Formats: sequence, structure tokens, C-alpha cells
Amino acid sequence: MLSASNLNELLNLRSPVSGIVSLYLPADTRRAYVRTFSNLLRLRCLEEPTFSAVAEDLRLLDEFVGRDFKPAGWRGLAVFSAKRLGLWRVCPLLEPVRAALRVAPQPFIAPLLSIADQYQRFGVVLADDQRARFLEVFMGQIREFEDLVMEAPRLESAQGRAVAQRLDGLVRNHAFARIVIGACPSTAIRLSAHLRTELQQSLIFDENLSPKNSAIAVLSRIQACESEARKVRETVLAHRLVDLALANGPAVLGLERTLRALRQGAVRLLLVRDGFAKMGHLCPRCGELSLAFSRCPACGNATQALFDVVEEMIQRALDGHCEVLRLLNPTPLDNMGHIGAELSGNIVAAPASQPAPQREG
Ligand SMILES: [Zn+2]
Repeated sequence: MLSASNLNELLNLRSPVSGIVSLYLPADTRRAYVRTFSNLLRLRCLEEPTFSAVAEDLRLLDEFVGRDFKPAGWRGLAVFSAKRLGLWRVCPLLEPVRAALRVAPQPFIAPLLSIADQYQRFGVVLADDQRARFLEVFMGQIREFEDLVMEAPRLESAQGRAVAQRLDGLVRNHAFARIVIGACPSTAIRLSAHLRTELQQSLIFDENLSPKNSAIAVLSRIQACESEARKVRETVLAHRLVDLALANGPAVLGLERTLRALRQGAVRLLLVRDGFAKMGHLCPRCGELSLAFSRCPACGNATQALFDVVEEMIQRALDGHCEVLRLLNPTPLDNMGHIGAELSGNIVAAPASQPAPQREG
């Protein structure tokens, strides 16, 4: 699991001399990512002289991707490696990512952060009269703090306070955003009475959970609640975007307008429907993206066909520090071009050369 301290380490790590390898792959159970990785490796090794300095990291990655990674249940994979620094961090992902292999003085974490930002870190305490167990859930993974299990906690008085203190220590060390108390209502109330006020405000009571549940059962229960919350959040953000755009506010809808806003560096938040893909064009000379031009609209050079311009746009948005949300559920944006963006500052969308997508139905 990617712990809060793992994430901090990645944020602060620098290796100016030897470089840090960052790998992203879309995951699939047919294991097409293995071939994607070897193609990427061959291509980048030819292009980049820096790759020879990290040959051992690349060998380890090759071994992991081809042999050790189990893709079931995952849609993406991020791995960071710097053997000289003792860094080896594997992050399976619940959302797809564009394949990328980079060697740089710092890890390339924008795609990872963009996904991680959509998930809350849960601390879980499961308690009854006999036991209290402590767990952590984040981005589709769960771990149990087995050395912290308390037997016969008797949640009244001193023992209840002891459980609360243990939980408090965990919250401080692991940066939990929410705390789930899995216990019957009377036990949950007695336990929460011992918690400091700030923690009481981040509590979620779940009487369907108890110390008898397996970690996997706890994970799937919390994931189900989280994906319901995600659905609501996506709907709210998509509605806000569509309303803003239709009121001529700082927002754009549809591929062409969104691409133009991205090119102008005006995007603050990019919303894109999961699975939405479109062919496009890329200028090999200046890097300009376009939808339908065989000549680059910026420099006039002949363009190359691009298999999926949407993934390239997501990548550029991340590189430009925009927030990106992949819409995993149906939203009003499905009838409005599948992609759109809220714009930063007071930039107002220029009129597009083609009419804006109309709301269907
Ligand atoms: Zn060009």
C-alpha cells in the first residue's frame, strides 16, 4: 500500500546524479502491458542516453512487469525505482494511465497524485467486547496493524480510553482523512466518547462491520461506500461544468474547445469520461496537437496521426499542473462531448469555429 510517508518520500526525493526511473502502464488481464513496456523500453533506450545509467533499475522493472505484477482488479500501474537510493515503490492503480517511462532527477508523480487525490485515506477500528483491530484503507488496498490488536478491550472506562489513544496515535502517524468505527452502536458511542473533538468530526459509524470481518470484507465495504461518494462528486462537478459553460462562464465543453483552452494554458480542472478516445494529429516539429489537420496549425509542418489525442491531452494537462478527473460514472457530460474544462482566472472561452455541442435529450 502507498502510505502517507511513502507519498511524502516520493514528493521530496531528488537524485540529480543517477536519476530516478518512473514507469506508468495501463493494466489489463490479457497482459498487453508487458508488450507495451518492452516497446517503451526499446524506444526510450535508443532516444535517451541517460537510460544507460539506470540499466539495473530497468532490468528490475522488466522482471517485475513480466513476472511479478498481478493485474487482476487493477487498471493501471506506477513503479518508481532508484536502486542507488534504495527506492522501489510499486503502486497498482484503480484508474488507467498513459504508458510512460521517464528518467529524471525527481520521480514523475503527477499522474499518481492526480489519481491519489481522488481517494481518501481511511483509518479503521473494528471493536467489540473481546477485541479491537486497526486497519488502513487507501486506493483499493488494505493493511492491518497486526501488532496493535487489543484483546478483551471492554470499551467502558480505562480500556475504551486505551483503544481511543491507540487510534489517536495511528491517525497522527498515518494522516487518515476519515475514521471508520466498525462496531455495534453502543460500543461505537462508548469508543467515540473517548476521542478528541477533531477526530469525532471525521468519524463514520458502520454497524455492519466488526472484528469478525476479514480484511477483504472490510475493504470491499469501504470501497463500495467510496465509489458511491465518487459517483455523487462526479455528478456535482459535471453539472457545475455544464452550467458554467452554458452560462458563458469560465468553462468549455467538447474536444475542440477543450484542446484550445489547454493549448492556451487556461485549464484549471479537466473532466473527461473514462474510455473516451479520439484519433488526432501531432506535429513532430513543434508538438502541437490538432484534431483534423494534416498540416500543423501552428507551424505548417506535416503532422502525424495520433492514436488517442484524449490521453495525450490528459498527459499535457497533468504536466501543466491542471487537476484532472476521470469520470468513471455516467454524468451530464456524456451528452455534451464527453470532455470539458473549467478555466482558471478570468479567461473567457473564445468562440469556437464549430458550434458548441448541444445538450441531447
Ligand atoms: Zn507544428
